[in-house]
Amino acid sequence: MELINALGTSLLSPRRVRAAAALGLLALGGAAPALAAITHRVTIQPIQVRRNDGTGAANAGRLLWEGYADKIWDQAGIDVEFLSWRTLDKTAFLSVDDLAEFTALTRGVGNQQNANANVINMYFVNSQYADPGEVVYGRAWPGANGIVISDPTFAFAGGVGRLDTLAHEIGHNLGLPHAGGALRLMADGNVRSIPGALGDIFPNGARMDQLIAGEITTAQASAFSIAVPTPGSLAMLGLSGLIAVRRRRG
Ligand SMILES: [Zn+2]
Repeated sequence: MELINALGTSLLSPRRVRAAAALGLLALGGAAPALAAITHRVTIQPIQVRRNDGTGAANAGRLLWEGYADKIWDQAGIDVEFLSWRTLDKTAFLSVDDLAEFTALTRGVGNQQNANANVINMYFVNSQYADPGEVVYGRAWPGANGIVISDPTFAFAGGVGRLDTLAHEIGHNLGLPHAGGALRLMADGNVRSIPGALGDIFPNGARMDQLIAGEITTAQASAFSIAVPTPGSLAMLGLSGLIAVRRRRG
């Protein structure tokens, strides 16, 4: 709409408005990399853990970095969608101390999980267990539902944040194990290059967070990846709509 306004009133014939709208789409497309067609959608239920009295929320800024997850998973034609926030007021889970507690949080009854089993539940906590000298930013069930993200993810790099951690953990739930070197999304956190901005992510800049063909096949086949209408079929709908209008005029 801004582009149409910038063109001025002299251009506002219906044909020119349609042309401007098309230009607007082109301008948006030009700013972004060549994107894959979206064929699947993965839906995430974010759940913010707080103390029993509702204070002391983890991920206080409620950061989800959806733009990062979308750009990374676009390589697989997967749109990542976050639902509205839920909160879980259980002090004990603010620090996830061992596998038993991780299991109890993600699989325990009544922990604000989404009723739809195909929606991934992503919990935000203060901290979680790690080997001595290590920090665990995120942890996920391989090929099954449940992710826990801890606050060091958001404090990383002086507060820039570990911008690909949520996308990486989603990959685990979609069935992907650790694999590859610094520029691969599913590389272990100890070896993965962490983007500092959207422009660092494949296919731009340093080309970080790459997915390979086998990973894409696995991720698309996951029960959490729901097929969506392709742009091709949407374009066909638009075309048939236009034909219908022309017929009515004629
Ligand atoms: Zn991992």
